[in-house]
Amino acid sequence: MKLVDEKAIRGVIHRAGNTRFNRLLLDALEEDFSRWESFNLSARHATHYPHGVFELMPCSDKRLYAFKYVNGHPRNTTSGKLSVVAIGMLADVESGYPLMICDMTLPTALRTAATAALAARHLARPQSSRLAMIGCGAQSEFQAVALRGVLPLDSVRYYDPDQAAMRKFRTNMEDQFTMLHPCGGVDEAIRGADVIVTATADKRKNVLFASALITPGTHIHALGGDCPGKTELPPDLLGQAKIVVEFARQATIEGEIQNSPGVKIHAELWEIICGNKAGRCSDEEITLFDSVGFALEDFSVMRLLYEMSSEYDLGMEIGLIPQPVDPKNLYGLLSAP
Ligand code: NAD
Repeated sequence: MKLVDEKAIRGVIHRAGNTRFNRLLLDALEEDFSRWESFNLSARHATHYPHGVFELMPCSDKRLYAFKYVNGHPRNTTSGKLSVVAIGMLADVESGYPLMICDMTLPTALRTAATAALAARHLARPQSSRLAMIGCGAQSEFQAVALRGVLPLDSVRYYDPDQAAMRKFRTNMEDQFTMLHPCGGVDEAIRGADVIVTATADKRKNVLFASALITPGTHIHALGGDCPGKTELPPDLLGQAKIVVEFARQATIEGEIQNSPGVKIHAELWEIICGNKAGRCSDEEITLFDSVGFALEDFSVMRLLYEMSSEYDLGMEIGLIPQPVDPKNLYGLLSAP
């Protein structure tokens, strides 16, 4: 069984190159979303506390079984901790033996951003050049970079009430975008945007902007609203938007649509990728990808990391599984030296 830690993951990305790794991840996600019906899919198991959430996210096909443990603790950054940390496991379906245990904190950000890009390819206007980033925390740069991989983005207007997060975003993105505009508030940041990403962390029903400020043609990628009681958008905007989700059963409980029970979901993302339903149909439509994060995305990034870390000989073998000489004599291990 292999341990692929954060250092090994960085090694994989450095060896492949950022751009190539992001493309391979996008391809892996597209391939897996295209064969949606061959997966065992279920909504995640969530355990809620007033200050955060713990989630277990399984997904498997005929060959591989994957699951992720992940938390969401929005106040963590005030004590120097990440809001979201995750660990994943990939196992062989035939024997049930684990193949890999890995860091999923970095891969969660990478797969969330690659899924955003996949959705934007179908839902944003192809000529979109202006991005608004609301919330400049851990996910933000991953989002901007992945979206720029599929859209001709040249400017980013960004806002976060935390000035240090704003400075960090600028430093990390300076070599990626020629036009970076720090803004004094959300309304200023979304003005004129083709694509809006909401990536805030706040465990409450927030309304980041008024729906009247959203102009026809805008694509919104809402990723911060991902738990019951944790949302970012004005509910009346949902009635005006073409809404796409990852997995309706989960999104209805956790996404923006939890606040608008009667609202129509246009499609699950896989239906658009497979061509069963249309993506954007006109330059005037407002599109919303109401993302909460789905286990299939973790499956895709884990299988890619397993393949690539094996190819590059990164990560290390660990002895987490006992190996008795006689598999029926587990008890005998107690007297082994
Ligand atoms: P983070 O804590 O690192 O950053 C969140 C940022 O939002 C902070 O800098 C905070 O100051 C800012 N913020 C809070 N209120 C704001 C407001 N009103 N306007 C602008 N900015 C505001 O969190 P993160 O790891 O970047 O995650 C962001 C959100 O995305 C979280 O809610 C997380 O649960 C969610 N998330 C979703 C997915 C998914 O697949 N949909 C995946 C990962 C994370």
